[in-house]
Amino acid sequence: GTLNMLGLAKRVKARILQASTSEIYGDPEQHPQREDYWGNVNPIGLRSCYDEGKRVAETLMMDYHRQNRVDTRILRIFNTYGPRMASGDGRVISNFIVQALRGEKLTLYGDGSQTRCFCYVDDMIDAMIALMSYEGPDAAEPVNVGAEDERSMNAIVDCLGEILGRKLPVEHLPLPNDDPTRRRPDCTRARDRLGWRPRVSLPDGLRKTVEYFRQAEAPAAPHARR
Ligand code: UDP
Repeated sequence: GTLNMLGLAKRVKARILQASTSEIYGDPEQHPQREDYWGNVNPIGLRSCYDEGKRVAETLMMDYHRQNRVDTRILRIFNTYGPRMASGDGRVISNFIVQALRGEKLTLYGDGSQTRCFCYVDDMIDAMIALMSYEGPDAAEPVNVGAEDERSMNAIVDCLGEILGRKLPVEHLPLPNDDPTRRRPDCTRARDRLGWRPRVSLPDGLRKTVEYFRQAEAPAAPHARR
């Protein structure tokens, strides 16, 4: 897909953005992750097709930029959440909220000590627009975008419990293969080059997302009788 889009961008001289990912850092051995860190990726694990696919997509972006002067932008998206996620998406925030609203136990993988940083979707979109508008000489270099406050999955359970006003029961399930133990972006580059800062705090973003799923999950109103 990236190769086809790069061919198109070259032909029509379009600026092109790759929605890359923190996953290119694999299970990182440096914290927080800066853009010049090359990562720690298993090439043959269950998760590798995604990691390596996104890595080679970045390689193609840079090659088209260098060889064909395509006007490329690479944004490395860290964990992002918010309204309009699919309820069956499988990501931790949507799973936990939907489970809590249905009165089910929260499926916590492993012991819940693994960490992530969660960025609200509006903040992520702002960064994408800012990067696509950025004209600096270093514009083709990758930029990390995400929240910088690192939370364990146990802390996410507690935070959601506070918002919903009750203690949420948890069911422990095995940790998926190659699940990164820690992840946190260094967003200095996004701050310095794009003037970007996340504006929505985790509790505020979670509240908005809970509200969304409350509406989305509510049973459809019965048709009025004629
Ligand atoms: N996770 C969990 N329960 C779930 C879904 C995910 O405990 O129902 C954990 C998962 O093991 C991972 C973290 O939450 O450590 C974030 O998972 P997600 O799939 O949302 O994002 P990613 O692994 O891509 O960072």
